[in-house]
Amino acid sequence: MFYLQLLIATIAGWLLARLGSSKPARVKASNSGSSQDYFVGLNYLLNDEPDEAIDAFITALEINSQTIESHLALGALLRRRGKVDKAINVHQALLARPNLERDLSNLIRLQLALNYIAAGMLDRAERLLKEVLNEGGDAKWDALRQLITIYQTEKEWENAIACSSQLLKNVRFTKDPILLGAAAHYCCEMAEQYHHNNQSTQARAKIKRAFTFQRKSIRAMLLLADIEQREGNYKAAIKELLRVRAAKPVFISQLLEPLEFCHVRLGSRAEFEILLREMVLEDSSTEAALMLVKASDSVEAIALLREHLEHSPSQKALLELLGLQLQAVDENVASSLESLLNRVKQQAKGSLEYCCHHCGFETKNLFWMCPSCKQWDNCQPIGELSNRQVSSASKQ
Ligand SMILES: [Zn+2]
Repeated sequence: MFYLQLLIATIAGWLLARLGSSKPARVKASNSGSSQDYFVGLNYLLNDEPDEAIDAFITALEINSQTIESHLALGALLRRRGKVDKAINVHQALLARPNLERDLSNLIRLQLALNYIAAGMLDRAERLLKEVLNEGGDAKWDALRQLITIYQTEKEWENAIACSSQLLKNVRFTKDPILLGAAAHYCCEMAEQYHHNNQSTQARAKIKRAFTFQRKSIRAMLLLADIEQREGNYKAAIKELLRVRAAKPVFISQLLEPLEFCHVRLGSRAEFEILLREMVLEDSSTEAALMLVKASDSVEAIALLREHLEHSPSQKALLELLGLQLQAVDENVASSLESLLNRVKQQAKGSLEYCCHHCGFETKNLFWMCPSCKQWDNCQPIGELSNRQVSSASKQ
């Protein structure tokens, strides 16, 4: 609504200037239709009918060099209100005008491409954006951004990487963490496909490329660890997994299984348990605590869980502790409580495990790109996340 009001103020100013100017009577007569349409538009707006108001304003404004930007904005407004077909018509009419300056014609193409993207006509949008790219000028950076969106949607990762590399050459974007992170994910998408097809050399090359965009890419580290593990390079796999722990301890729950596997293969299970204790103490990891409990006798496990719960309360750890303590309770009491506890545990198992920081979307599986808000790197394990939030809050 704010844009509409702003636009109306601009149009009103333009119309008043034209109506108030001392032009010949013949020109004023031809303007009377425009001003009438303008007042019709204003009426619609006052009656809270913005779509009709936009239509009336478009009719009121004859397309010329002075009004072209207002038409551009009205078209964009139509798109934002979901009237994509009308927006396409407005911008196509502007683009059809003869002798458009390069910068203006590029601006119109960018708007038209956005309309096509909104309408799902990605091929048309791509064609237009490539025209803008070939013509150069400042608009090319916006064109690259839009092309990246298209290639991401179409899963054309190599093209997305190429456009990202071009965009990152601009000093304004060189250090943009969102662009860099997304580019690393495009490389990882390709690496995953190669890894899936047992083409580890190609997968490793893409992972290496991912690290050039984001040195601490969690996804690239996890993938590399998986490749190393599959090839029997257990020490190298452990090294990568520990890099993940150092960069983002919130992902510890993803590391425990492969770390255990590699240590067992290397015959260093004791070393793994030392590592688990470190994760409990230094990272407040509930998952590490629960894994440690499995390898401990009940007295040791109860002490460990109690201590962990003191500074990192979590439902999972509490249920485990209750289960262990039931063993010391009277048999009749224990059996009735045990069935209740199992039901609660079952319910906890079905709960969602990952949450998007950006939009709050919750899911059972880890998505590198949130399926809801389409942002990369915002989904994180809920359990470890809430523990860390609680522990950091308690430190404050
Ligand atoms: Zn999200």
